Amino acid sequence: MPGVGPKTAQRLALHILKRPESEVEALAQALVEAKKQIGLCSVCFHLSSEPVCEICRNSNRDNTTICVVADSRDVIALEKTREFKGKYHVLGGVISPIDGIGPEQLTLQALVRRVSKDKPTEVILAISPSVEGETTTLYIGQLIKPFTKVTRIAFGLPVGGDLEYADEVTLARALEGRRELD
Ligand code: ZN
Repeated sequence: MPGVGPKTAQRLALHILKRPESEVEALAQALVEAKKQIGLCSVCFHLSSEPVCEICRNSNRDNTTICVVADSRDVIALEKTREFKGKYHVLGGVISPIDGIGPEQLTLQALVRRVSKDKPTEVILAISPSVEGETTTLYIGQLIKPFTKVTRIAFGLPVGGDLEYADEVTLARALEGRRELD
């Protein structure tokens, strides 16, 4: 499990072994159900138990701004700041030739379709500033600049810093201080 070291893993395993069998079965069942029910939103590719996610369905949210992130975890992190009122687009990763991830493995075609159809006034790229993240940001910038204004969030984070580990204030400031992509 990501983010769980050997000590925590052992603690969790021992905790589960001490619980009554009925509880362990309920937990296992809950995991299976979650896996069965949760898929990806057909519009933005965020995790969702419905065909279209809650954020895309919410008519109070601003349709003119789309924030592009690598992963659903980033949507959750940005939602916690309560700064962003637009819609999202989840790429499903970043371009990383070493890991065999090219542009075609990401939801880029859907993004281009969405941008050319919905004509948002701004697309904000909120991708962690790692080497792969930078490549991805520049690639997407080239791809959608013909359609709309493209900005990127200003990272007050060290290079390589992960979006999901940024605290809410830092993330809110990064969003506020976004600038247009050259
Ligand atoms: Zn959605």
